[in-house]
Amino acid sequence: MIEFIKKNNLLLIFLGVIIGAVWSIFHPSSAEPFRYLGYAFLNALKLVVIPLIFTTITTSVTQLGNMRRFGKLGRNTIIYYLLTNVAAVTVGLIMVNLIQPGAGMVPPSTDFIAPQRGWIDFIDTVLPANLITALAENRILPLIWLSLLLGVFLIRSGQRAAGAIDFLNLLNDGILKLVQTIVMFAPLGVMGLVIGQVLKHGGGAEIWTSLVGVGWYSLTVIAALAFHAIVVLPLIFRLITGRSVSRYLLNMGEALLTAFSTASSAATLPITLRCVQVKNKVEKRVAGFLLPLGATVNMDGTALYEAVAAMFIAQSYGIDLALWQQAIIFLTANMAAIGAAAIPEAGLVTMVMVLHSVGLPVEGIALILIVDWLLDRFRTAVNVWGDSVGAAVVDAKTSLD
Ligand code: ASP
Repeated sequence: MIEFIKKNNLLLIFLGVIIGAVWSIFHPSSAEPFRYLGYAFLNALKLVVIPLIFTTITTSVTQLGNMRRFGKLGRNTIIYYLLTNVAAVTVGLIMVNLIQPGAGMVPPSTDFIAPQRGWIDFIDTVLPANLITALAENRILPLIWLSLLLGVFLIRSGQRAAGAIDFLNLLNDGILKLVQTIVMFAPLGVMGLVIGQVLKHGGGAEIWTSLVGVGWYSLTVIAALAFHAIVVLPLIFRLITGRSVSRYLLNMGEALLTAFSTASSAATLPITLRCVQVKNKVEKRVAGFLLPLGATVNMDGTALYEAVAAMFIAQSYGIDLALWQQAIIFLTANMAAIGAAAIPEAGLVTMVMVLHSVGLPVEGIALILIVDWLLDRFRTAVNVWGDSVGAAVVDAKTSLD
């Protein structure tokens, strides 16, 4: 049973959407109690977000920091990861600001207080006097900084910190398993959320506006992903390696299609390795180092999606985010992508962290859940493409031996 749910989770989520919509439109009174499933599902996600952020960020930083051991190869890899992630989020933010997919939508719930602004609020958001109070009020930016710095200091402690890093890695594995268990309930949660939406808005014109908004949002994500994959990455590839982009891309076809159909960079890894090493003839050791690591930490597509989704949710609630708040989204989207596991829907879970960081309502996830099964496929393909380009770029810049 559990295996069946795990294997067919995406299909079941899709079914949840359809059943929720049809049921609540045709028989609202019997559907009504089931909307609490959506509420419980979101609460479960919120419940794990604090430990998830702490262990994910700290372990990601120590993982990246460890690459110093790999000398030039490690350094070039980090530079490539950071540059392309930053480029991806920038493309996403520019597109979502230009297209404004969420403008004019009806917010999913009205009991939301707009985030604060001004310098005192900025300091309180970034550097509050009390961590526990901040977390209790869902202000998680300080936790992000603290986890990041703790990661840096652990690396600087060298061998002495090995035990602590191991412990955090194990804790992180455990928490990720917990998250996966929660995601298994996503089909029921999504059904409940859809029922809640339809009952609130009566299934009429407002639902229609939401659907149009979500359509625009999906187009924005896909257009931004396409720009990053077809313009930004090939430009870097061509400038640094001088090789033919189209040939390289064609040779990656099998891996990209697998990424699209599995929505998992990890599941695609064996095929990515074969396409990059055998078909594209990238130095085996470089690819063998960069691809497994990239599958879990270098996710251009996920970073881009996180930023667009957070901005879309802000727009749909009619919240105007100041530049510094967008800067925070920029930072947390990058961290969320590094922290996301290479499995289906992982980006959706780390989204909670991006939303929390600027005080956006997690309920907004209900808006994007419906299309996430599809967008996940596109962003996973871009994640794998980013890693593959990275292998060739770093290979061209690093001479081993
Ligand atoms: N599914 C993505 C991957 O495996 C991660 C995500 O959910 O964004 O690369």
